[in-house]
Amino acid sequence: MAAEKKTSTSKTTGSKATNSKTTNSKASGTKSDSKQSSISQQMKDSEFHQFFLDELKDIYWAEKHLAKALPKLQKAATSKELAQAFEKHTQETETHIKTIEKVFELLGEKATAKKCDAMEGLIEEANSVISDTDKGTAVRDAGLILSAQKAEHYEIATYGTLRTFAEKMGHEEVTSLLQQTLDNEKETDVALTEIAVNFVNEEASEE
Ligand code: FE
Ligand code: FE
Repeated sequence: MAAEKKTSTSKTTGSKATNSKTTNSKASGTKSDSKQSSISQQMKDSEFHQFFLDELKDIYWAEKHLAKALPKLQKAATSKELAQAFEKHTQETETHIKTIEKVFELLGEKATAKKCDAMEGLIEEANSVISDTDKGTAVRDAGLILSAQKAEHYEIATYGTLRTFAEKMGHEEVTSLLQQTLDNEKETDVALTEIAVNFVNEEASEE
């Protein structure tokens, strides 16, 4: 993760007159408007806040990349259980993307994505599983589950940390939004384990 350090040097001035968008014209709900105005320019200039934003941009890119990859994994899956799990999580991932956009909005920031090398690599690995295994086999499903769980664990680590950061900074609504996504990623991980145990692993061991 390449840090965007430019803003950290202006810490002492604490005021950028041009950036006083405390009231966002977009309808973001009554609650969020009051939250938004509570984010002071001093907080926005802090390195912790900048680091938090940088990581949000990273997971935003990662989620978008995953949303594009999941339908491909769905198509490649052998069992209908795994295909359905991928289909379900594609929809959930679209929700995660919207949730991050909401978080950016609450912080009074523009939603921007920054390439996440980790997720790119994880999806590459999933593609290798597809090319290295035969269509219609349980071994392929076992490999796809492994790849998907690696991606989920990356997301769990990221959301777990980001929700803690948000809590530390006193962003209550952001904390609960990130917690919701974190919970969903954990549920997905558990669901994938269940599919492996109930439908895939035994068959794979017999192929
Ligand atoms: Fe996600
Ligand atoms: Fe996920």
